[in-house]
Amino acid sequence: MELLDIKKYPAKILRKRCSPVEEITEKEKRLFEDMLFTMRHFGGIGLAAPQVGVSKRLIIADMGEGAIKLANPEIVEIKGTDKMEEGCLSIPDIKVEIERPYEIIIRGVDAKGDSIELKAEALIARVLQHEVDHLDGKLIVDYAGLLERFKWKLRKK
Ligand code: ZN
Repeated sequence: MELLDIKKYPAKILRKRCSPVEEITEKEKRLFEDMLFTMRHFGGIGLAAPQVGVSKRLIIADMGEGAIKLANPEIVEIKGTDKMEEGCLSIPDIKVEIERPYEIIIRGVDAKGDSIELKAEALIARVLQHEVDHLDGKLIVDYAGLLERFKWKLRKK
């Protein structure tokens, strides 16, 4: 397994809409494994392919109960709301409080190439939504209010 380089904000690739994965080949399987290795190395609980410089619709998440690897993930149902602070390996030192659905049903293709559907709630649902955002070029800073952005500016000075 290879330790990949994490792209940091404001890298352009983080803002691109990623292309769908056509097929799970050895290349995608290796990418899943390398992403997992890299995420664990940096102490993350989720990672999206654009964060390692690959503009494809691939995400992973692991909260210690087995890794979730998904290609072409799609959130098909949402329920409830929940507010929590989120961080991102691509934007170190910044946390943003984000309101998201509490429970989701997500569909995609797993590392074996099989279509799967998962029901997730609480933190894991949040991580999956955060990673799906990455595939559309959306970042946690986009959820921040004006006051928060102003505070970051002051901090940078
Ligand atoms: Zn992130």
